[in-house]
Amino acid sequence: MTEVIDGNAVAQTIRDSLGGAIDTLDDAGVTPGLATVLMSDDPASETYVSMKQRDCEEVGINGIHVELDTHAPAQELYDTIDDLNADPDVNGILVQMPVVDQVDTRRVLRSVAPEKDVDGFHPENVGRMVAGNARFKPCTPHGIQKLLEHSGVETEGAEAVVVGRSDIVGKPMANLLIQKAPLGNATTTVCHSRTKDLAAHTRNADIVIAAAGVPELVDGSMLKEGATVIDVGVNRVDADTEKGYELVGDVEYESAKEVAGKITPVPGGVGPMTRAMLLWNTVKAASEQTGVAVDLD
Ligand code: NDP
Repeated sequence: MTEVIDGNAVAQTIRDSLGGAIDTLDDAGVTPGLATVLMSDDPASETYVSMKQRDCEEVGINGIHVELDTHAPAQELYDTIDDLNADPDVNGILVQMPVVDQVDTRRVLRSVAPEKDVDGFHPENVGRMVAGNARFKPCTPHGIQKLLEHSGVETEGAEAVVVGRSDIVGKPMANLLIQKAPLGNATTTVCHSRTKDLAAHTRNADIVIAAAGVPELVDGSMLKEGATVIDVGVNRVDADTEKGYELVGDVEYESAKEVAGKITPVPGGVGPMTRAMLLWNTVKAASEQTGVAVDLD
């Protein structure tokens, strides 16, 4: 029987486990604060930000939301980040990507104070993670590690294939999998759009992590019997639904489920974990900035 990995349930466990840490901070007079910044009129980004704010409210993190006019000069965003960096009530800052064209994305990533960079995208934090001394692991790959852990998937010695090499998912995911550390020690291959024979790689894998942004790219015929399949993709495809579309992953779920040992659904797999790990990083940031020790595993 294929086990469907329930990301909503694992994310709830993570949120519950943060309760003790948030209480400890509260006893010391600290309420963790997360600022979300939106400078985009992309409806998906608006939805993501409002879900993140709702998550904050649910666990007792103070959510602060800043929305900038999409026609404003880029400097307004840079100034906003400077203000949030200086605000002691803000422990974590998340600038929702992508931002409008007039903004220099690299400058944004460099501008967020590394100790408040709960996305883990500042070059200093990327460097620390690669060196095996992460301050904040990026939320999606960190969430996938937690999913694998909660599902009892052994990464040590496993053949892992990551499909995709983006800075936010593929690269950090591969990096975490090769770390000489718990939830690492996998022999890891990274595939991308120039990979000649994707199936030859995925068929050899004990763990496949699909993060290509291509609907149903990986199907059952491309998998090894019993493999663990983590589907990161969130793709809107036209469908005869009320909204006119449906969400599908990068994995063709029905055929993959026939072959996989464990598999994540879309939605309800990786997505909720990304959001849970943002809360986790915010609590860690609050603890480190205030010197109030908390238990986070
Ligand atoms: P990007 O578009 O930044 O990167 C996609 C990667 O996939 C690139 O490295 C690209 O290769 C590779 N790729 C594209 N086509 C193929 C192909 N045919 N075969 C093999 N590799 C291919 O996407 P992201 O990493 O930002 O996101 C990936 C997916 O995950 C998206 O659907 C996104 O919506 C979703 N996502 C979901 C999250 C969640 O929480 N559930 C969080 C973040 C993303 P190349 O480098 O050569 O172009």
